[in-house]
Amino acid sequence: MLRGIYPGSFDPVTFGHVDVITRSAGKVDELIVGVLNNKAKSPLFSAEERVRMLEEITKEMPNVRIFPFEGLLVDFARKMKADLVIRGLRAITDFEYELQMAQTNHKLEPELETVFLTTSLEYSYLSSSTVKEVAAFGGDISRFVPEIVADRIAEKMKKKESVD
Ligand code: ADP
Repeated sequence: MLRGIYPGSFDPVTFGHVDVITRSAGKVDELIVGVLNNKAKSPLFSAEERVRMLEEITKEMPNVRIFPFEGLLVDFARKMKADLVIRGLRAITDFEYELQMAQTNHKLEPELETVFLTTSLEYSYLSSSTVKEVAAFGGDISRFVPEIVADRIAEKMKKKESVD
């Protein structure tokens, strides 16, 4: 039984993330998507909202489960009895940070391996932060995120406008 964890902020989840989820779910027996609840950041969506959207998006994927987590990834991985951490690599800019994280995690938990999936070409430019930027200026994000996410972002933006 090979269990992988794909951790991230997913604020919001993009087609790039969905691609990594779909591809890695095909390679492991069970995939846990870990939604980081980082109290130091102020995300667009709460961890609960992000979990709910991911549950909706992956509802046809029987071996994928979504959980929020806080604190160290290695502790979460231990709790979930995971064998692998899966991360996506887009460009050279991701590499330095990802290498550092993977090596730190390996020192903390030598049994836990990190594997990288290189991004599919059509999503290599895509990031949660650019999606938020485009949405904030009223741009069309339907090519970047699943419909349910685009709808939730539109609701958020409307609420923000009415407060401002
Ligand atoms: P972080 O975990 O650094 O807060 P994200 O939640 O945006 O970042 O991303 C989670 C993981 O998904 C990271 O490994 C990131 O490199 C990867 N990822 C993000 N966007 C893409 C994409 N377009 N294609 C492939 N992998 C991606």
